[in-house]
Amino acid sequence: MAELQLKDIRKSFGTVEVIKGVNLEIHSGEFMVFVGPSGCGKSTLLRLIAGLEDITSGTLSFDGQVVNGLTPSKRGIAMVFQSYALYPHMTVYDNMAFGMQLAKGSKEQIRKRVEAAAEMLQITPYLDRLPKQLSGGQRQRVAIGRAIVRDPKVFLFDEPLSNLDAALRVATRLEIAKLHHDMGKTTMIYVTHDQVEAMTLADRICVLRDGIIEQVGTPLELYERPQSLFVAGFIGSPK
Ligand code: ADP
Ligand code: MG
Repeated sequence: MAELQLKDIRKSFGTVEVIKGVNLEIHSGEFMVFVGPSGCGKSTLLRLIAGLEDITSGTLSFDGQVVNGLTPSKRGIAMVFQSYALYPHMTVYDNMAFGMQLAKGSKEQIRKRVEAAAEMLQITPYLDRLPKQLSGGQRQRVAIGRAIVRDPKVFLFDEPLSNLDAALRVATRLEIAKLHHDMGKTTMIYVTHDQVEAMTLADRICVLRDGIIEQVGTPLELYERPQSLFVAGFIGSPK
């Protein structure tokens, strides 16, 4: 069964429609990448899935259950932002524990989960530091760690690497691929405008253009059989 189902999803801000009828199934455990030019609606679509914005019309289901009205925390989703969105006054440990505290885990359970995530991301030495005492790459790992401890069914990433320098982007990209592998059945939706990231990470790529889906397929399918010049330009041609 599809883990996530989007049926004729639309979103308007005022009188301007920015998501114009999106139909998509994202399978359990799949790594789905959304690509498309700036302003085409990638972040908005992700925020609709997360529940950070209300859907104007259409149906969003998880495992066959309609989640349109549910708050983000009730959806079993964790989102990692480009800007990290860490709490500046809290230590790394507290930043990572925060989401779980809201879910009312015991202190001991929380500690175990935070330590395991820190170990996985190799940030154990920094647990007592404040975000400002970390490099950009370390901060991004904390943001990913905070998502991991919440043990979500679905991970959403909105251009998580775009603030990192080139070398760190490659290293962190490989870590995200490893994370998807290590976490087994976790479904991931990943937004990027970087073709290389899309081609290397995706099970399937969804190409968005001006609020609609232009084409969905595996990297190879899009590369070999683009349905339009737009897709060819986005996926097929070297940068
Ligand atoms: P992308 O992430 O692909 O660059 P966005 O989803 O951020 O695109 O934006 C899609 C369109 O929706 C843009 O035209 C943007 O200006 C508009 N938009 C996004 N958020 C809002 C908002 N809160 N209010 C009004 N317009 C918005
Ligand atoms: Mg965006």
